[in-house]
Amino acid sequence: MTFLNEVKEELLNLRIKKNCCMTSEVRGILAFGGIAFGEGILFGTDSFSLAKRLSIFLRKVCNVNFAERLDEDAGSYKFLIPESILSEIGLKVEAEAVAESENKELDHCCMQAFVRGAFLASGSAANPEKAYRVEIFTERAWLCDKTFEIITSLGVDCKKVKRKNLYVIYGNNSENASDLLKVTEASHAVFKMLDAKIEKEKRNRTNRQINFDMANIDRINENSRREADAIRLIDKKIGIGELKPKLREVARLRLDNEGASLRELCEMCDPPLAKSTLNNRLNKLIQIAEELSDE
Ligand SMILES: [Zn+2]
Repeated sequence: MTFLNEVKEELLNLRIKKNCCMTSEVRGILAFGGIAFGEGILFGTDSFSLAKRLSIFLRKVCNVNFAERLDEDAGSYKFLIPESILSEIGLKVEAEAVAESENKELDHCCMQAFVRGAFLASGSAANPEKAYRVEIFTERAWLCDKTFEIITSLGVDCKKVKRKNLYVIYGNNSENASDLLKVTEASHAVFKMLDAKIEKEKRNRTNRQINFDMANIDRINENSRREADAIRLIDKKIGIGELKPKLREVARLRLDNEGASLRELCEMCDPPLAKSTLNNRLNKLIQIAEELSDE
């Protein structure tokens, strides 16, 4: 099941007790999913669960029976909502478009219900393991503005954009995308999104550590090559045997262990040398090589 389907299934199973919220959710569904049809609104969906929820809410809120009817040919469920019922939920048809019949103040619970309806009718959510993206879209500018206002008043830092003929409200990072889902009360989906974020951060931390280790190895290799080159030059020009015993020991050790880190070389010395002492001797060898190559 896609993440979007998971979110929708969770929302469709959410129990709503208050009539005010059912009305608002129906309003969201019809405003975002309905099209003007005469004086009424035609709403179609191929989701049986959504059709069922809509008919139950309409029966409870408006006391009308809309049996969800499957249009066999289209494979979808259709509802024709007459003007009388639209006015009860604050919608109307004007100039052949779905419009708002009254601008009523919504309670917090109803704002969430409205956004949930909007998402059910016209929302999308990307798989959070791939991207953080939650969208609600409509062809109606007023509806986009209105819904944007509601969502931002609920404290969500979402954005809106016009994309071709669509007005899109969206969240595009882990925070505003999950906040947008939180508004619809899809709490399970929100958890899933946060889980994905934690996993991703864990992976990034591991990758950073690996990169850091690789850079360290590169640095060790580069230093060690430089030292070994210097010692080979000394050997060629005067012979390692001509060096003072302490330098000679370090020079042989480095040549025999080109890939070893400074700490590893220290431990190979007998008795083990301090890192600073070994470093001084290697630097001295490089200095001698530089002087020899200048001659
Ligand atoms: Zn309410």
